[in-house]
Amino acid sequence: KPIVIITIGMAGAGKSTFVQRINSYLHSQNPPVPPYILNLDPAVTHVPFEPNIDIRDTVNYHEVMKQYNLGPNGGILTALNLFTTKFDEVLDLVEKRSADVDYIILDTPGQIEIFTWSASGAIITDAVASSLPAVVAYIIDTPRTTSPATFMSNMLYACSILYKTKLPFILVFNKTDVQPHEFAVEWMQDFEAFQAALATHKGTTDDEGEPTYMNSLMNSMSLVLDEFYKQLKVYLPLSNLLASANAYSNTMQAVGVSSVTGAGIKEFFEAVDASRAEYERDYLPELKRAR
Ligand code: GDP
Repeated sequence: KPIVIITIGMAGAGKSTFVQRINSYLHSQNPPVPPYILNLDPAVTHVPFEPNIDIRDTVNYHEVMKQYNLGPNGGILTALNLFTTKFDEVLDLVEKRSADVDYIILDTPGQIEIFTWSASGAIITDAVASSLPAVVAYIIDTPRTTSPATFMSNMLYACSILYKTKLPFILVFNKTDVQPHEFAVEWMQDFEAFQAALATHKGTTDDEGEPTYMNSLMNSMSLVLDEFYKQLKVYLPLSNLLASANAYSNTMQAVGVSSVTGAGIKEFFEAVDASRAEYERDYLPELKRAR
């Protein structure tokens, strides 16, 4: 059975470039393992790869905007809702092809909330994950997440998606060619290091040197995140870190990649393959219980 990679990321994080990269990586294997690609972004103007199923073939986003008198976000959401009403047919198609493919890539709308906080996003995710093994790949713009406050907001967002989907989760730190992601791994593994970064961060104390409201808030939130990080397994090129990472559970994995150079993509697929076992161990029994 193939595994479905649900790619999610803030606009600009490099999701399209990442999908293109993993697609070409799979094609370049010997023998090639071409993935099955679903594009769920009705507003995307250019996709550098050929999706097997494309929401744009079913719904015309510009027409939807005009017909229902909507703005861009309302248009994307409505287009996704319309597509979701036909998703059982999509799933039939996917299932028919599932004997021939190892990976199914789900590319979600660039406006992240439209997928993560909509009924349609939840319906599609649940439908996919109840029929095939699935994993969430959360794409992070590493160079733009080096400030502790931004980093924490980003991790809280990841955390909310993890808790909402309950699926195996990979934090994909993208653009490591311009900013290595070791700082992020350190902050996730060493609570004190993150606290120290917070403390030295500009604007976190007031004129008297007392922590500001923002700093106190961030301190409390980072305690919540510490629980989240405890589930973390980290893939780093350094083997000593890999060895220590085995002590962590598989629930969440972190990998650094560059969608431009292709660095870390192999490790990403190792994380995907590890997620399959986790899906079977954790998600599937829950699903059976829920039925
Ligand atoms: P999306 O909005 O998440 O789909 O982002 P795009 O894939 O369109 O990428 C946004 C910008 O980031 C583009 O200018 C890309 O060239 C750039 N980008 C994406 N991945 C990488 C990467 O790994 N390294 C570098 N340096 N730039 C990247």
